[in-house]
Amino acid sequence: MPLNNQTQPTGPAGAKVVIVVGGGLAGIAAAAALDSCGYRVTLLEARRELGGRASSFDDPESDQLLDNCQHVLLGCCTNLQDLYTRLNVANRIEYHRRVHFLDSHGKQFDLWGVVGLPAPLHLGPAMLAFSALTMPERKEIITAMLAMLRLGKRGREKLEGQAFGQWLAEHRQSDRVIQRFYDPVLISALNEDTRKASSKYAIEVFQDAMLMNQHGYVVGLPACALEELYAHRPCDDTRLGARVSELIFNDGRAAGVVLQTGEKLTADAIILATNYHAVQRWIPENLRATDVRFAHLEKLESVPILGAHLWFDKPVMRLSHAALFEGPLQWLFRKDTEGKILHGVISAARDWVDKPRDLCAKLFEQQIQQLFSHSSARLLRQKIVIEKRATFSPLPGTDAFRPAQESPSGGIANLFLAGDYTKTHWPATMEGAVRSGYLAAEALTRQIPGAENSVSPKSFMVADLPVQWPARWLETRENIDAVVGR
Ligand SMILES: Cc1cc2nc3c(=O)[nH]c(=O)nc-3n(C[C@H](O)[C@H](O)[C@H](O)COP(=O)(O)OP(=O)(O)OC[C@H]3O[C@@H](n4cnc5c(N)ncnc54)[C@H](O)[C@@H]3O)c2cc1C
Repeated sequence: MPLNNQTQPTGPAGAKVVIVVGGGLAGIAAAAALDSCGYRVTLLEARRELGGRASSFDDPESDQLLDNCQHVLLGCCTNLQDLYTRLNVANRIEYHRRVHFLDSHGKQFDLWGVVGLPAPLHLGPAMLAFSALTMPERKEIITAMLAMLRLGKRGREKLEGQAFGQWLAEHRQSDRVIQRFYDPVLISALNEDTRKASSKYAIEVFQDAMLMNQHGYVVGLPACALEELYAHRPCDDTRLGARVSELIFNDGRAAGVVLQTGEKLTADAIILATNYHAVQRWIPENLRATDVRFAHLEKLESVPILGAHLWFDKPVMRLSHAALFEGPLQWLFRKDTEGKILHGVISAARDWVDKPRDLCAKLFEQQIQQLFSHSSARLLRQKIVIEKRATFSPLPGTDAFRPAQESPSGGIANLFLAGDYTKTHWPATMEGAVRSGYLAAEALTRQIPGAENSVSPKSFMVADLPVQWPARWLETRENIDAVVGR
């Protein structure tokens, strides 16, 4: 395709031109990283706002900016926190050291970490006092947590192909423990049923969030609408409402993009940071045949998430958040100071996609009235958003279908992939998306130095929280055997 009618992004003379397609967290991270080290970056986002799946929309009825769904981060999301620092919004995240759980009648149980105690000892007192479970059930969990510690990071990799249900059965975790402990944590973290998810990803959640470092479990909630987190543009040439309709290839290399308006842009390299459904459409068959990254994308399974905005006539909930032992809503968040506006979430919401919204609202109102029977609050209004393709499912064996950010030899060398679905070793989360953006940017700097005389490659990835000494010590089988008295 001829490259006439093109507009070039501006930037330092002699710098290499990079186009990032997609302004979700992966694209924002890639653009911010490359912009910080001298590339001429253009970020193209089809919508009128940045943030992709982690963003907000205008609700004319309430005159509010509503998030498409509540988004939660944890202390172990080191790269997402790094991006928030780059975007100058790290102070917009409120961290909660107490994680609240409610039974179906609103009885509260908390998990918290003792400040100053290293992991995993920090959660010990709270675990022992977690009266939602009997003492033998708590011991059951502690035994499983020690087994997870013993596996270490390398051990969990080997369990990628195994369903977590099998691991739980092998470690004698009872149904009630699964319902009251594993389900509230994992279904939301993985957007998949606890028993169906890959053991690797389920164990990773516990290792990274609870067992390795005392700060890993802390719950972060944005104190503003998600969209406000992206007010600071990741690069000067950020274009909203710029939908890419086609990629241009020359001699097996990515040469540029065509926008829906017909405008053409050329580039030295392109990062595709859209979801995997969009990626598939753009790569011609002959190039797909030589680049294995595109071979298995259709095997990734999309899973829906339901988010319910609920307005009540009276204050209902004073807690900032709560994980619920019983459904239908799995988590609740307070969205105003009074507690009249709540947001409920159902992950792995396959059964909810076709339910009439009024019926959903009725069920949620009943659940909340049972949870907070003291408040006698009535539901005034609801807005239910179901994202049908919220995330890919981390089923056993899925790693084989996740593409690398960088092309294999013989592939499209200057075309990089970013997005939560790419190979990050994280489930589909904001942290996973940011990691993918940084990894794609790093790969690009390895291949294409930013400007003459610039130092390449660059490193953008932030280290995981350090594994603290008790966790390191317990990682050896002998020490764990000594602790549990075998
Ligand atoms: C309902 C819901 C709840 C979630 N809750 C959580 C949570 O609590 N915690 C958590 O960590 N994660 C959560 N996630 C997951 C998280 O939102 C995603 O993993 C992350 O936002 C994915 O970012 P991304 O950049 O990879 O993809 P996306 O956000 O999908 O970004 C892709 C971007 O590409 C753009 N695009 C597509 N086609 C084109 C085109 N042709 N031209 C230009 N631009 C294009 C899209 O508009 C979009 O902005 C949730 C997701 C959903 C849907």
